[in-house]
Amino acid sequence: MNKPDYQLIIVGGGPAGLTAGLYAARGRIKTLLIEKGATGGQVLMTDWVDNYPAFADGVTGFELMDKMTAHAERFGLEKKFAAVESLDLRGDLKKIRLDSGEILTAQAVILCTGAKPRQIGVPGEAELQGKGVSYCATCDGPFYRNQEIAVVGGGNTAIQEAIHLTHFAKKVTVIHRRDSLRATAVLQEKALANEKINFIWNAQVSEILGADGVEAVRIKHNDDSASVLPVTGIFVLIGVKANNEALPLEQLQTDADGFLITDSEMACPGLPGVYAAGDIRSKKFRQIINAAGEGANAELSAEHYLGILPG
Ligand code: NAP
Repeated sequence: MNKPDYQLIIVGGGPAGLTAGLYAARGRIKTLLIEKGATGGQVLMTDWVDNYPAFADGVTGFELMDKMTAHAERFGLEKKFAAVESLDLRGDLKKIRLDSGEILTAQAVILCTGAKPRQIGVPGEAELQGKGVSYCATCDGPFYRNQEIAVVGGGNTAIQEAIHLTHFAKKVTVIHRRDSLRATAVLQEKALANEKINFIWNAQVSEILGADGVEAVRIKHNDDSASVLPVTGIFVLIGVKANNEALPLEQLQTDADGFLITDSEMACPGLPGVYAAGDIRSKKFRQIINAAGEGANAELSAEHYLGILPG
């Protein structure tokens, strides 16, 4: 086998990748973490994290990820900011091609490419993206000071961010397709008690209206009636889809939505030395603490594969 550039390459620098990186750097494994943007992943789009253990008073998404990055850096984790274009995960020498054309090799790889927001796929959504259609309340909330806006979704993200958006907007209308929320009880209680939050239940946005910016949303109610809600912004927060575009899906096993299947040790079936952790994994619950735990698990599995940890 040609000499690999690294023992381990981690693709993606969210909580899973950073935790794998922390463990690897601390274990003195020759490791590279590749990240295409800033380290932190989707947590950077979250204004407030209230359920990460040891942060008893809560913490901003930015501060949590800043601390996670600093923690891995304290042990000397090597990072490269670049986009991965393709990977060949077969055989003993894994090959990772960057968009610059550079090819890096490693004995083991941990895939932590995460997930990104889903779209509702209605007329006006693509056309008005960045002109009132947003997928990140933390990024765009301040643009809507004293305005009336809509949030689509009923999960933790939608309800948490609806609460956050009340710091800026005059009124936030949550449009949810059922008559009960998926979000955790504490968030539900806070949102239902918030005078600035209004709910439209059993309804879906069928069109986003506006010429140069969002002016209103057309709503289709489950009883087949329709209405128009004037708003200047709409936050679509309806879950995530896999960040798998650069991954060799013909080599990996995925679920129907393109998330990676692993065994309980985070190993990708049929590909010795390849692991996945965090939101890119096929699983039911996507939590920061889960992603971090899976990152640790994947790295320890990789150390075992590399013959560093005893069996
Ligand atoms: P989610 O839990 O999958 O919820 C998605 C929400 O959007 C659901 O209410 C769903 O409705 C609705 N929805 C889905 N497709 C829709 C469509 N086409 N049109 C209208 N509504 C649609 O997604 P999420 O809230 O983004 O959370 C993703 C993961 O991150 C979850 O595991 C979540 O627990 C986690 N998370 C955790 C926290 C926290 O612990 N503080 C914060 C944020 C996110 P139905 O309910 O009818 O399916």
